[in-house]
Amino acid sequence: MIDLAELELADIEKDLEARGHAGYHARQVYRWIYRRGQTDLGQMTDLAKGLRSQLSEEFTVSTPRIIGDEVSADGTRKLLLELKDGRRIESVFIPDTPAMTFCVSTQVGCAMACAFCLTGKMGLARNLTAGEIAGQVRVLAAATGLLDKTFNIVLMGMGEPLHNYDNTMKALRLLHEEHGLAVSPRRVTLSTVGLVPELERLAQEPVMPNLAISLHATTETQRTALVPPNKKHSLASVIEACRKFPLKKRSRITFEYVMLAGVNDTPEDARRLTRLLAGIKAKVNLIPLNAAPGIAFDRPSDDRVDRFARILAERHITVSVRKSRGRDIRAACGQLIVEGGPKKTAAQQMALLMR
Ligand code: SAH
Repeated sequence: MIDLAELELADIEKDLEARGHAGYHARQVYRWIYRRGQTDLGQMTDLAKGLRSQLSEEFTVSTPRIIGDEVSADGTRKLLLELKDGRRIESVFIPDTPAMTFCVSTQVGCAMACAFCLTGKMGLARNLTAGEIAGQVRVLAAATGLLDKTFNIVLMGMGEPLHNYDNTMKALRLLHEEHGLAVSPRRVTLSTVGLVPELERLAQEPVMPNLAISLHATTETQRTALVPPNKKHSLASVIEACRKFPLKKRSRITFEYVMLAGVNDTPEDARRLTRLLAGIKAKVNLIPLNAAPGIAFDRPSDDRVDRFARILAERHITVSVRKSRGRDIRAACGQLIVEGGPKKTAAQQMALLMR
């Protein structure tokens, strides 16, 4: 059986032809899968009946299965999805921010181990396939009734997208395809700790998403403590890669900065940040920490966040403070973790949380 969820349109065409079917059926099939959320080949009613039953024997369309669905008081919705092999991931729907936004995962767990992130405590179980990354968007769009509407996608769920580079970029091509959801790359934001060789590769891509860099600190020592990949990909080299990153007119790189009380939220940090970003078309997104059990940091007061933001604004840096949504259902940044997956017992998960 060939899994159509993993194939770009041109490859579906080739596979159909290789099996003696007309290649143009690929576009019909693609439309059913992506635009109408239909994954049962037997139900694709604009194909002849005989063809449908033949295709059902040769092809499948694997799709993450919704096994949990929680809605926050603020309307944020978190789906727990089960994959083919029983592994679980989370994907989040954030309404009206101002657009509708889907936050999707790129890995089961994450290897980056950022000190303040719950997903990082899980470690990496495996990469998601391109079909599983794009599949989350299909599932979210169908569940929210947005299959034929515009929406934004942020690669800010579980995992480090540049650590799963090929599958992530292929997923963006699957979603960009005009016979499918036709998601414009301008509506996609890739958020990364900044793996330098992959950033350089990204700079060469024909179809390029918006870029967000998880900076979080302004000195090498502090960044290494908070974002361990900094050992290999220093702050200086990440900033250098950003300076060279090709940007479209009016577009800018977003720098995310998690604010940890008494750690990286001082006026000196703010001033160092403005100096680091000098000469880069940048905007800063401050993310006051979303606290969680097992995370050894506190969220700063609103006053401290405001003071930090004002220092940046006075120096002409566009700054916003992320309103973290869905905290009551643990759907906010850094709070995605899968409890009770197939590999770990509840007790092992608790031990991880308490670590
Ligand atoms: N691996 C990607 C995507 C991570 S999630 C990256 O690092 O960019 C998106 C953002 O949430 C990142 O900036 C991440 O550092 C931040 N984040 C992680 N844990 C957080 C927490 N507990 N509170 C607030 N933001 C957090």
